[in-house]
Amino acid sequence: MKLSQLPLSTFRDAPADAEVISHQLMLRAGIVRRLASGLYSWLPLGVRVLHRIERIVREEMNRAGALEVSMPGVQPAELWRESGRWEDFGPELLRLQDRHRRDFCLGPTHEEVITDIARTELKSYRQLPVNYYQVQTKFRDEIRPRFGVMRAREFVMKDAYSFDLDEEGLEEAYQAMRRAYSRIFDRLQLTYRIVQADSGAIGGSQSEEFHVLADSGEDAIAYSEADGFAANVETVPVLPNTESHRPAPRQDLQRVATPGVRTIADLCEFLDVTPRQCLKTLLVAGTETPAVALLLRGDHELNVHKAQALDAVAAPLRMLSAAQVEAAAGVSPGSLGPLGLELPVFVDQSASRVGDFSCGANRAEHHYTGVNWERDVPLPPVADLRNVTSGDPSPNGGGPLTVARGIEVGHIFQLGTKYSDAMGATVLDSGGRPRNMHMGCYGIGVTRVAAAAIEQSNDARGIIWPDAIAPFDVIVIPIALDKSYRVRETTDNVAGQLEAAGLEVLVDDRNQRPGSKFADADLIGIPHRLVIGERGLDRSEIEYKSRRNDSIEMVALDSLVEFLDSKRA
Ligand code: ATP
Ligand code: MG
Repeated sequence: MKLSQLPLSTFRDAPADAEVISHQLMLRAGIVRRLASGLYSWLPLGVRVLHRIERIVREEMNRAGALEVSMPGVQPAELWRESGRWEDFGPELLRLQDRHRRDFCLGPTHEEVITDIARTELKSYRQLPVNYYQVQTKFRDEIRPRFGVMRAREFVMKDAYSFDLDEEGLEEAYQAMRRAYSRIFDRLQLTYRIVQADSGAIGGSQSEEFHVLADSGEDAIAYSEADGFAANVETVPVLPNTESHRPAPRQDLQRVATPGVRTIADLCEFLDVTPRQCLKTLLVAGTETPAVALLLRGDHELNVHKAQALDAVAAPLRMLSAAQVEAAAGVSPGSLGPLGLELPVFVDQSASRVGDFSCGANRAEHHYTGVNWERDVPLPPVADLRNVTSGDPSPNGGGPLTVARGIEVGHIFQLGTKYSDAMGATVLDSGGRPRNMHMGCYGIGVTRVAAAAIEQSNDARGIIWPDAIAPFDVIVIPIALDKSYRVRETTDNVAGQLEAAGLEVLVDDRNQRPGSKFADADLIGIPHRLVIGERGLDRSEIEYKSRRNDSIEMVALDSLVEFLDSKRA
């Protein structure tokens, strides 16, 4: 394709409202344009990337034996009432009515529709196993759309649904999808981890997520290279013996005036101590009481899932507002502490092992220092309440964990008979008895993958697409095209030759300075660049540069195809 025929508008500066690098670069490089909050149009370069991702996804899904279908984006409410999710799904489900005042929704996912298809199409165990998939637009009215297409309201998902007669069949289907996903993300040339998405209490591999590692990721994942453990931080237990026993008290209990101190950071600065010597007190809504206090070390983060699993704590977890804290404890949140607090209290196991700590004094602008459990305040019930951090031991026993940020690009899930029970999706087994089918569901965020690839691979000059999903394989930049017949002829020949070899070629035939063409080529991230100029042609050579490094090589014109072959991953 000739760039003169593609209205490419790139810009130098990052738009002010784009927080993450992938969003900035997608806008600057003309990959997407924002229509409204969480709604994006994909421009020609972007669509080429999506098609390449989708192609790899389809090839691997087909290879795994899955069958492509296409289901409507608009779904009737009756199906969602059957599954119970019309009530349960909440405001992410965008509901609408047609002209006859019948209820519909924009599909955020397709379990209901596929279960309806399965209950009519599948009659006998002989037809199983079946795995249906589609690549289709989803709509979720996300509470906070952000990071561009990474958390959009409308996005493209590959979703697949497997149907089996029994649990063993489901387990096989699940493992087949796990392998297919690994091949997909390998071929997409992404660095990823497969992480446990739930605590694994029921069966261990009920649900796993595929995460691309990137600092901007919304999820924290903990993994150990040594024993292969990897899980969403939400789900990882802190082993009870992570901290050694509580040291003996050395300091006396003291109450100090701490004017203006609101946060742990303020307190540390004021007292010249570290956050691990401080305890923070968080008030959340209780099941029996308006407030329950949770105590954590100052450097630790509350784990919502662990906290709301306590009987005394209301689920879903609700932090009390400053006014509610005042009403429950008679003091503002920044001065809370365990001494004399007349509320149900739970202490995190790590916090229970600290001695000589500092904490709020339940009196405005005052804190205690030198506090010790049992000596100054009885030890409350101890629980694991915090997120693991880097250095905590792996639950599998293989050394320390590393905590990194991840972007969830895929999710595989064993649903069991949840939908087939609710919607009566049965087949006859070999004895002629009706059996509810066992289902699995498997999603890949196609549009999110494009953004994740950029998060993982970019530099100050722009995007560096992996070969597998670049909008073009090669960009050819002729120098002084209008002045040299030889350059023009060679450019046409080179493009023809490379296209014949199956490469997607973009020729920058615009009438612009070479410098700005190079800058655009770097920004839009084409992995391989060829520059054709008079000087090289005197020796039948053209200039090659990889987008990944700065070194320039001269290549003989007659060995171009093999040369590029050797450079492509
Ligand atoms: P998340 O935890 O990120 O909200 P989810 O658990 O709701 O995702 P699934 O229902 O498992 O997502 O959907 C399958 C895949 O679809 C996800 O792994 C993700 O890649 C993609 N996806 C989900 N929500 C969005 C969104 N708002 N924008 C873009 N892609 C999304
Ligand atoms: Mg998920």
